Amino acid sequence: MIPLAVPNVGAREAAYLHECIETGFVSSVGPFVTRFERMVAEATGCLYGVATSSGTTALHTALLVVGVQPGDLVIVPSLSFIATANAVAHCGATPWILDIDRAWLLDPALLAEALRDECHLDSAGVCRHTQSGARVAAVVPVHTLGLLADCDAIVGAAHAHGIPVVADAAAALGALDRGRRLGELGADLSIVSFNGNKTVTAGGGGCIVGNDASQLTLARHLTTTAKVGHDYTHDRIGFNYRMTNLQAAVGCAQMEQLDAFVAAKRRIAARYDAAWHTLDGTESFPGRHGVDSACWLSGIVLPPQLPAFEFTAALRAHDVEARSFWKPLHLQAPFLHAPRTLRGVADAIWSRVVTLPCSTQLGEEQQSVIEHVVALLGHP
Ligand SMILES: *Cc1c(COP(=O)(O)O)cnc(C)c1O
Repeated sequence: MIPLAVPNVGAREAAYLHECIETGFVSSVGPFVTRFERMVAEATGCLYGVATSSGTTALHTALLVVGVQPGDLVIVPSLSFIATANAVAHCGATPWILDIDRAWLLDPALLAEALRDECHLDSAGVCRHTQSGARVAAVVPVHTLGLLADCDAIVGAAHAHGIPVVADAAAALGALDRGRRLGELGADLSIVSFNGNKTVTAGGGGCIVGNDASQLTLARHLTTTAKVGHDYTHDRIGFNYRMTNLQAAVGCAQMEQLDAFVAAKRRIAARYDAAWHTLDGTESFPGRHGVDSACWLSGIVLPPQLPAFEFTAALRAHDVEARSFWKPLHLQAPFLHAPRTLRGVADAIWSRVVTLPCSTQLGEEQQSVIEHVVALLGHP
């Protein structure tokens, strides 16, 4: 079976892991964690990084740091991985689900419209959702599949209403918007994931990046049980969200290969995109003018009448792993009652999206994937 996306690990990861064992630093203290945080901060164009146990825990922590509290609303795009909405719920807040644009990203025009038409500033100058009275405590653009959302517009609209922005950049390491890295787009904080299926992995893990030292200090405090000193004193309810030195060892080895891995992802995506030009009714994954996507996952958008499960089953019969993509957040059981402002964009696209094999080490097999897809979809 040609797998969808598997880690690309080898001798370098093994050597760094061996170093952990030899020195005894296998847990949450150790030189690799610090080195990893510096590498991620640098790669994102930020001053500081705080490594975490996952992308989800990074997002949960970042939302708490910008002040999200129980009862608040947090604006999220309709098309994202469930973790984006879960992290909001973990704060005791509720996602306010806004539709995506044609590039599958939080729609900046819809955001501006929602803030103007569905919210008001209360007497204390706090932005409130008029229908529920809830405070709008943060906006979370998602850099879907490594394509950077329009942060200039999104951050502009949010900040104009006094609302902080936390970017879910889980899979966007290496992406550029007119030459700017993901931490240079104006969000107050951004988070990255190092889950096993991401372009660079730490086995599992995440990182919060930003430029405000006090915010990152608070993030570190919250992820390390909010302890004060070394005598079991804790000043609030914290979390055990730290990354271990073992994970960071793998993460450092992977970060050293970031540029090569992202280049491989882009080559794979470009070959697929070029191949679908001849297929009626299909589309490539979207791009955005001026943005170099990190191309985390690549694939194809099927013609509307073709059920994705039939297509993926047919590919599996040829030993090609293909998968349907995220089911929108507003259709997920835990969030059926969450407020939503939808225009039908996510609803129309999500079931047509199929991801195809795109591991960074994918070689000649890609051609056979393309041939199977063309044979299934082509109308000679
Ligand atoms: C992968 C991903 C996450 C979750 O990261 P984990 O490390 O798996 O917790 C969150 N948001 C998006 C958009 C993702 O792609």
